Amino acid sequence: MDYIDPHIHMVSRTTDDYATLARMGCVAMSEPAFWAGFDRGSADGFRDYFRQLTEVEPKRAAQFGIQHFTWLCINAKEAENVSLSRDVIAMIPEFIHCKNVLGIGEIGLNKNTKNEATVFLEHLDLAVKFEQQILIHTPHLEDKYQGTRMILDMLCDDSRIDRTRVLVDHVEEHTVDEVLGRGFWAGMTLYPVTKCTPARAVDMIERFGGEKLLANSAGDWGPSKPTAVPDLIFEMRRRGHPESLIRKVVYENPIEFFSQSPNFSFTPRDNGFNPAS
Ligand SMILES: [Zn+2]
Repeated sequence: MDYIDPHIHMVSRTTDDYATLARMGCVAMSEPAFWAGFDRGSADGFRDYFRQLTEVEPKRAAQFGIQHFTWLCINAKEAENVSLSRDVIAMIPEFIHCKNVLGIGEIGLNKNTKNEATVFLEHLDLAVKFEQQILIHTPHLEDKYQGTRMILDMLCDDSRIDRTRVLVDHVEEHTVDEVLGRGFWAGMTLYPVTKCTPARAVDMIERFGGEKLLANSAGDWGPSKPTAVPDLIFEMRRRGHPESLIRKVVYENPIEFFSQSPNFSFTPRDNGFNPAS
């Protein structure tokens, strides 16, 4: 089945991973800007990273027939440095019109600090000013519930923000309800250790239905599995879910959400299947 991974960090994956993903049916992916595993020393470090996201990765992906899209920001971990963050935010407009940029992300909170909140709000302002979609990172483990609520409150306090153009990622059982209930899209991250297993993700789909729910691998440089979305597909099949629901979650929903960006120039693969015939 063709699928789209809406959240994966290919800068930290190998070319072999691209080949494997293509063989498993991945036809498009979106790559939010994130923490490199170390704090960058200057805004120029981010400029190079944004060039990698807008110039290099689309070419690597295209070699395997995968369409690559991206999101720009300074992540919550480095947002503790407010002056560096402001330099990066001021530079983002240089890249915002690159043809694979879908919006601002992944922004959010890490330790739920005041500086992180300041930088988060300034990103929101940037997104509104340039009419960009927003992709949200919610904190891990013990900070998740409170951090998610803080993020949703900040988003809802800003009447300029269209909630249907915001994807809140890394939801779990205790946060998904509120994210969907307040009108946002929700992303489930399938991780081998933390976050959510494929089985837990299918439980959530069974509870909430397929509307406005996405599933991603968030594959990066840490313990993660870039082929986690196919694992979800297999788990849904194992439980007897119809192909139409599986396809909605792993293919149609990402297209519906991303299509709100004028830069989402996705071309479906011609696989010879015409549902009308
Ligand atoms: Zn991420």
